[in-house]
Amino acid sequence: MSIKSLSNIDIDLNYDKKHIWHPYTSMTSPIPCYPVESAEGCLISLQSGEKLIDGMASWWACLFGYNVKELNDAATEQLSKMSHIMFGGLTHQPAVDLAKTLVDITPKGLDKVFFSDSGSVAVEVAMKMALQYWQSLGENKTKFVALKKGYHGDTFAAMSVTDPEGSMHELYQDFVVRNYFTEQPSVRFDQSWQENAMDDLTTLLATQHENIAALILEPIVQGAGGMYFYHPNYLKAARELCNQYNVLLIADEIATGFGRTGKLFACEHADISPDILCLGKAITGGYMSFAATLTTTKVATTISEGKAGVFMHGPTFMGNALACAVANANLCKLLTCDWPQLVNNISIQLNNELQKCQPLDKVQSVRVLGAIGVVELKQAVDMVAVQKQFVELGVWIRPFGKLIYVMPPYVASQQQINCLCEAIYEVCK
Ligand SMILES: *Cc1c(COP(=O)(O)O)cnc(C)c1O
Repeated sequence: MSIKSLSNIDIDLNYDKKHIWHPYTSMTSPIPCYPVESAEGCLISLQSGEKLIDGMASWWACLFGYNVKELNDAATEQLSKMSHIMFGGLTHQPAVDLAKTLVDITPKGLDKVFFSDSGSVAVEVAMKMALQYWQSLGENKTKFVALKKGYHGDTFAAMSVTDPEGSMHELYQDFVVRNYFTEQPSVRFDQSWQENAMDDLTTLLATQHENIAALILEPIVQGAGGMYFYHPNYLKAARELCNQYNVLLIADEIATGFGRTGKLFACEHADISPDILCLGKAITGGYMSFAATLTTTKVATTISEGKAGVFMHGPTFMGNALACAVANANLCKLLTCDWPQLVNNISIQLNNELQKCQPLDKVQSVRVLGAIGVVELKQAVDMVAVQKQFVELGVWIRPFGKLIYVMPPYVASQQQINCLCEAIYEVCK
């Protein structure tokens, strides 16, 4: 690298465009990227000098804004001890502290923790746990049931339980393992419950349970597959059906975990515990990639007493100390603040202020749950044009297909939430 490029403080957009892949984009005609200089609180500073109010929390991850003192301090302190040390044969206090907190705050019964690098890997780990569990019991249960419109990540096992139709994953359908898909839960979160909403899942489990290792779902909120909120009774009944048919339940709370839906974990809306729980995204407050898969003593013991004698997974960066330290600071901040109040305030304000989009011609529906606000349009937006319009309006909101949605950091001010809602109204009108 030349001295010149080192001293060049402008982000080289041309190099970026030519050489770097961004999420789900073309290498020949990439959609434009906005260069970011820094971020602080709920504001993202672009290189151009503009400041944007963050509506996305960096895809569900950022709970307390950017450049947070306690998280910076935790990272700096851990850096001076060690960033990482292999987890095979070694351990450290940040990992122990994080495991304690997670066991403590997650739904009861989940007391064994597997740390990994990202959400998709946490899902792979969950699925491998389910497979090894049944293998240890000598049962040939090797299929999964997933919900239509669900999303569980981009790696292959995760893709095999992600909606097979609406998603791009159909590109790989000849390679992806075939699993079972049940109808998207038909009763919305705020509608009145209908028993027949369980018919499809009941039939599937009744006929196929001998092949089925686990049901995997995103509790209450289906995120990337459509920002859809479904009735807690579905989750409750799904738990009962899994018990009845001897099928494990995997709850993927990678998006919903840590308060986003108004409960610390979305499973609490139905007062259930899964057999396996996946966490990610907000675990480090948006600082770095990290994830965890929790399970019960029963599952862990059965796996460990099976043929392999061990659980067969162990990523290089497992239990990364820097990530654990930041996660500990983030969860300490979360659990000592009045997060239910923060989330509830955002919820009420999003509800009030997004309602005015409802009568607009382009708008299909408006829905809010916890600190998540969604405006569903009748037609998919022109992403590039709408993104530009949002930036001009001083907000960072990234629409997706027909969906314009926000899940701001919990510390967003009333005025910032108002700007987000006004910008959405401008774009929809
Ligand atoms: C984002 C997400 C994942 C994948 O997590 P990555 O960290 O992107 O691999 C899995 N499940 C759900 C529900 C998610 O929202």
